[in-house]
Amino acid sequence: MDKQKLIASLNEIVGPDNVLSSEMDLMLYSYDASLDKAKPDVVVLPDSTEEVSKIMALAYKEKIPILGRGSGTNLTGGTVPIKGGIVVHFSRMNRILEIDYANRTATVQPGVITLDLQTEVLKKGFVYQPDPASQKVSTIGGNVSENSGGPHCLKYGVTSNHVQGLEVVLNDGTVINTGGKARDNAGYDITALVVGSEGTVGLVTKAILKLERAPESVKTLLAIFDAIEDGANTVSAIVAEGIIPATLEMMDNTVMRAVEETIKVGYPLDAACVLIIELDGMPEGMDDNASKIVEICRQNHVRDVRLAKDEAERNVLWAGRKGAFGSVGQVRPSYLCCDGTVPRTKLPEVLNQVIEIGKKYNLPIGNVFHAGDGNLHPLIMFDERDEDERSRVLKASTEILKACADAGGTISGEHGVGMEKLKETAFIFNECDLEFERQIKRAFDPDDIINPGKMIPANS
Ligand SMILES: Cc1cc2nc3c(=O)[nH]c(=O)nc-3n(C[C@H](O)[C@H](O)[C@H](O)COP(=O)(O)OP(=O)(O)OC[C@H]3O[C@@H](n4cnc5c(N)ncnc54)[C@H](O)[C@@H]3O)c2cc1C
Repeated sequence: MDKQKLIASLNEIVGPDNVLSSEMDLMLYSYDASLDKAKPDVVVLPDSTEEVSKIMALAYKEKIPILGRGSGTNLTGGTVPIKGGIVVHFSRMNRILEIDYANRTATVQPGVITLDLQTEVLKKGFVYQPDPASQKVSTIGGNVSENSGGPHCLKYGVTSNHVQGLEVVLNDGTVINTGGKARDNAGYDITALVVGSEGTVGLVTKAILKLERAPESVKTLLAIFDAIEDGANTVSAIVAEGIIPATLEMMDNTVMRAVEETIKVGYPLDAACVLIIELDGMPEGMDDNASKIVEICRQNHVRDVRLAKDEAERNVLWAGRKGAFGSVGQVRPSYLCCDGTVPRTKLPEVLNQVIEIGKKYNLPIGNVFHAGDGNLHPLIMFDERDEDERSRVLKASTEILKACADAGGTISGEHGVGMEKLKETAFIFNECDLEFERQIKRAFDPDDIINPGKMIPANS
């Protein structure tokens, strides 16, 4: 189908105001938070499931590549339309459709911003737990598709643990519903398959999410260490003691310095690393657990442990953590965020390897990550305009992911594979594993039009 006819057909479905095709628009939709870029042929902004279904049916009939887009904050090229085609931007489908406190569910459209939902339910003392650091801008559709995590996922699990049902538009425009408000469902668990499928099996048009009561009390500690190993060993020791804090986040000196230049949290700039340890739950027993944690920190040579004395101090600590990625722009103009996971006892060993890889490629690397989950986020800082530096960054990233896989871990904790880690899938899957994934993809999308070229490498 030629481009003008495609635009005319989309105009009929959503109205001309909701179809974008100028060079400027296409450039704006050519990138996300990864390093890759490619322009779509057209961008469409539907307002309902019915419109999404018609757009999908058109793409299917004409064999046009199509992908969904939330806020484009993914870090692996998930929304880069490498084969052109249609980008379906869900920004107009941003309504919270229902909050059912009795069943503890929220039913939302995919374009709802994660923090907007969290702010809304908190008014009634409830929480939606998954809290990616990008929650101020990222959408539920993106979180579902990437199976996003966040600091609180140590205790509460990642997005998949909080999705009870979905409405999904399949390749030919058919609309299916999976799961529901009931916690148990018969048949294949299609919800689980769609969550984390990186937008490769269908377009999500509705999600039924699990809500929980907000914790009655929270205690936030900042533990300051003079050696990374001590911080990392503390993480394993806390969990081994049988305490699962709500968060166990680590930030190293490089990142603390960058944060202090932008947010002014008061992190100790002469320390090797800090842990942000948050306990939540019933007030009873919390002081005991906090004391045990302080003791474990001492056994691991902590320099100091500070307790956030009020909500304002806690918010500042978190503002630093959540603003950390953006802050590294103080060091170099671009960064690549690696996302590998290791068994948490391997953290000291793999963090040392990350430091060595940084030296080998002469690149500054900062670490800010979900230490409790063993989910590393080495931020490799560079200048994207420098081709030589860029190629060293890619090599360093591959080596870091290999180190994670070799340590018994994996190549993605929460950011997905996208198009950036296709070759690294070989570190964790064999050809039979990958072929089985391809079969699943083909069952949903035999023509390979839905977000093609993502998550699963093509046949070698
Ligand atoms: C500063 C920063 C901090 C971050 N922190 C975290 C973090 O702590 N934890 C974490 O897990 N991630 C984090 N991320 C990564 C990113 O924010 C998450 O992956 C997030 O879930 C993406 O949401 P989005 O709305 O931007 O989705 P997009 O980037 O727009 O899309 C992500 C993927 O989902 C697909 N998609 C989107 N909507 C739909 C839909 N309705 N139907 C089908 N497919 C769809 C897209 O095709 C794409 O493959 C961070 C990113 C940045 C830039």
